[in-house]
Amino acid sequence: MKAFENIELWWVTGAQLLYGGDAVVKVDAHSKEMVEGLNASGIIPVKIIYKGTANSSNEVEEVMKAASNDKKCAGVITWMHTFSPAKMWIKGLQALHKPLLHFHTQYNAEIPWADIDMDFMNLNQSAHGDIEFGHICTRMRVQRKVVAGYWKVPAVQEKIAVWARAAAAALDAHDVLCLMFGMNMNNVAVTDGDRVEYEQRLGYHVDYYPVSKLMTYLAKVTDEETDALVEEYKKLYTIKIDETGETVYWKKVRNAAKAEIAIRRVLKDKGATAFTTNFDDLGDVDINTPDFLGFDQIPGLASQRLMAEGIGFGAEGDWKTACLYRSLWVMSQGLPKGSSFLEDYTLNFAGDRSSCLQSHMLEVCPLIASDKPKLEVHFLGIGIRKQPTARLVFTSKTGAGTKATVVDLGNRFRLIVQDVECIEPKPMPKLPVASALWVPQPSFEIGASAWILAGGTHHSAFSYDIDAQYWEDFAEIAGIEYAHIGKETTIPEFKQQLRNNEVYFMLNKALK
Ligand code: MN
Repeated sequence: MKAFENIELWWVTGAQLLYGGDAVVKVDAHSKEMVEGLNASGIIPVKIIYKGTANSSNEVEEVMKAASNDKKCAGVITWMHTFSPAKMWIKGLQALHKPLLHFHTQYNAEIPWADIDMDFMNLNQSAHGDIEFGHICTRMRVQRKVVAGYWKVPAVQEKIAVWARAAAAALDAHDVLCLMFGMNMNNVAVTDGDRVEYEQRLGYHVDYYPVSKLMTYLAKVTDEETDALVEEYKKLYTIKIDETGETVYWKKVRNAAKAEIAIRRVLKDKGATAFTTNFDDLGDVDINTPDFLGFDQIPGLASQRLMAEGIGFGAEGDWKTACLYRSLWVMSQGLPKGSSFLEDYTLNFAGDRSSCLQSHMLEVCPLIASDKPKLEVHFLGIGIRKQPTARLVFTSKTGAGTKATVVDLGNRFRLIVQDVECIEPKPMPKLPVASALWVPQPSFEIGASAWILAGGTHHSAFSYDIDAQYWEDFAEIAGIEYAHIGKETTIPEFKQQLRNNEVYFMLNKALK
């Protein structure tokens, strides 16, 4: 299935009947041509559907209510061809519960200098109508993205494309069920939070799923399907057998495959598109129990492979990052370089190339791998299973990327986004785990300080393709705080921004 095939954006053109029926016919024809042109550009990944002109308060209200009720509609694009008195948008904007993009553009690129007359000016007055529409949105505190520019220009279309991907992720988020196999790790603050508020703001529904029930799925996995999955592993990955020897290697790989099949089946049965695991909660506590029923190792290989298919994942019960990774993957469909759950592990101080090694015990997504991943089995001494454990090993691509996280500040969620530069690590022959090495922007000293001041997590959802502008649109659609750390960040300004946001969100809550 093609990405974004089942969703659409609605285009509504604002007009009025003051200039007569002929004018509306022309407005309608121009709008159709523009929507067709945008769809044919190949730049905007979600199909735009032209929904006609709205010429009165009733017509606006009707189309906005329809958009709000339509499951496939990810957002609404408005454009005022003629003057569209904005009081006629009040009821419609009150009824709209979908992301809004206000496109300030015009059918013709240039003024027809020799021929322009009053009729032309009255018909083509988005310069005027869009300002009036913008005013009512601001007055009503309607959250929207404003894109200004000529509709045929690729750089302008790119801005709509960014918003379209964020809107698609926001629509998907409303249907996300995240299953927690075990709770979030005891005593950890940053992975905890208000799941009720998370659903209210972002749509994600987070439930626990009994590990004991997951184990009943594991018990039913057959040898045949396990064999088939192991064959798939052989095709996709380089088989690398090290210190454990062949017998232990294949036993552990087979058990990892069984875990993957069991987790997949639960996710499918529940309709879940995100999950978390906890390395202390893996079924029977003691592996020497007669008729042992449990994962014999952390199901890291399953997490790695499911992430690559777009299933949200957070380790140690990190449901916030699991859901965010799902949205990140939705936004980045069709883009080339990949995304992953990652964790800040170890620092490398080296002057202006000071960096942070990103990894996890196991769970790094192979979409970011620079080469074909190696399937390896090594001893892992963390959690209740101190066992040889299967995992995919690789290093990441190099280049610019962006990491994102959501933290719960008690009175609101803050989306923190940071630009990073992935660089080549030195060989790490004794660290058989997937990793990335990055320099936080604008430098380790400023970037890491800002992340800490913002209350950022050690886990993040990382992508090469989805940069800060996507996250800004995503945060604004959800109405949550957005804090970006990039090349221009300075610590005094960033601290002031966080202080300002504290007040803004307190007042904003009171306004609603
Ligand atoms: Mn972790």
